[in-house]
Amino acid sequence: MKKRLVVANWKMNPESLSQAFKLAGAYKPSRNSQLVVCPPGVFLQPLSQRFGRKMAFGGQDCLWEQEGAYTGGISPAQLRSAGARYVILGHSERRKYFAEDDKMVNCKLRAALAAGLTPFLCLGGGLSAGVSESKLKIAIRRQFRAAVGGLKSLSRTVLVFEPAYAISTFGGKRVSADEVAGMAGFLRRLATQRFGSRVAAVSVLYGGSVDKATFKSYRVFGRIDGFLVGGASLRPDEFKRILQEFDI
Ligand code: PEP
Repeated sequence: MKKRLVVANWKMNPESLSQAFKLAGAYKPSRNSQLVVCPPGVFLQPLSQRFGRKMAFGGQDCLWEQEGAYTGGISPAQLRSAGARYVILGHSERRKYFAEDDKMVNCKLRAALAAGLTPFLCLGGGLSAGVSESKLKIAIRRQFRAAVGGLKSLSRTVLVFEPAYAISTFGGKRVSADEVAGMAGFLRRLATQRFGSRVAAVSVLYGGSVDKATFKSYRVFGRIDGFLVGGASLRPDEFKRILQEFDI
């Protein structure tokens, strides 16, 4: 059975390294899932050195070059050397606050794969609540095709259905388990149309304000391979319950 993935996106939290140690130290990874913690870049190396046996680590973004004159950027190679095995790409906050477009996501995805990272490719940025199902699918299809442009295979890429209107930053609208399951199937179909049936087993995560009140309804569906969790990952007791769910 494929191992489920639970990704903790800490965003720009917490404020200090000692708080980061405390938060990661409070996590209890479950037997049946892979926990991936994505802290701010400055905390990656100390956290992976201290907790690397208990959990895996990832970046929240990376640049499209491995080194060079890109003030403020972090490259995929640098993430690797700081202990990351994964990286979140195309997150809706990156698209909105950092004007990240589909072309950049494509370049980042290719650079991340070249450096040996496993990307979590977020699809759903820029969408507003109330968008019709057909418009949602058109937008997601466009983002997917642009992101994987030029790739010969999907390789290790994990797809994340992350409708912007569902994340807490942009409203936190509850998405039904039916819709999540339907979109997971849609993403798998997009992947097989583009890369052939061998990618039918691509992992698909849901990233939409999963918390203690909602995770069970998504879990029972069995059509998704895990969650990308934002706010709830900063609340260790709540996050523990989400992780434990996979051991039941
Ligand atoms: C996210 O950032 O993808 C996310 C799901 O955040 P939150 O859980 O805080 O809504």
